[in-house]
Amino acid sequence: MKLFEAIVEANQRAVKGDARAGVHVAEFAASLPMVALTCIDVRLNKLMPGVLGVAEEQFIWLRNAGNIITSPLSSTTRSLALACAVKGGKEIAIIGHSDCKVCHTNVGEMVDRFRALGVERARLPDNLVEYFGLFASERQNVIKAVDFVRSSPLIGAKVPVHGLLVDVATGKLEWVVNGYHALGTPATAQPVARLNVDGPQLTKPVQVAAEAGEEPAPKPRIVPPPPPPPAPVPPVLPKRRAQTRAPWER
Ligand SMILES: [Zn+2]
Repeated sequence: MKLFEAIVEANQRAVKGDARAGVHVAEFAASLPMVALTCIDVRLNKLMPGVLGVAEEQFIWLRNAGNIITSPLSSTTRSLALACAVKGGKEIAIIGHSDCKVCHTNVGEMVDRFRALGVERARLPDNLVEYFGLFASERQNVIKAVDFVRSSPLIGAKVPVHGLLVDVATGKLEWVVNGYHALGTPATAQPVARLNVDGPQLTKPVQVAAEAGEEPAPKPRIVPPPPPPPAPVPPVLPKRRAQTRAPWER
């Protein structure tokens, strides 16, 4: 069984009330830490990474408004790439969520909100949908984001890129894109010529981090005997109670 097969299975059992459901993370050491991109929605603050049954130290968490990827070489894609190259992320998950306000706020409302903040329409780009990567379906947005990341020349072909949706009310996960199916698929973007135009040389950020000595190579040392295998990490689902929403979530 692979990591996300175990995560989704444990989540589904937990949602059905199985108190023994959990992920034996020790069995998936080669697949952790994982890298996740989620929305900025505050309801996710306590939901992640508990619903996945993964400990915080194994969860590299990137967030932006709407968990949007705008291109195979976008800023967020670059961060995902560095999360793997510098921080050792083994698998990537784009995790959308139900009732996403970025999805359910139309362009007219968006313009009104900006105007209320003193940002007049004339100061905004003409095509707000394209500029902010706005979307009409949380599911399609996740699929599109996975496609961009999967096709990125910055993401290794052996790194699975999954797409999931999480129900913010129940914690139930839906596996929208199984990243194991596309493993080994070469990047479809035509990257090399564009890389020099759009951004820094591929090797530069990694070299900078290495020069900064963020994570020096460990010195040889006496290895203590391994501890007993830990208990499985159970998925943590949201408590069933009246939803209290922040004003901007209403
Ligand atoms: Zn959202």
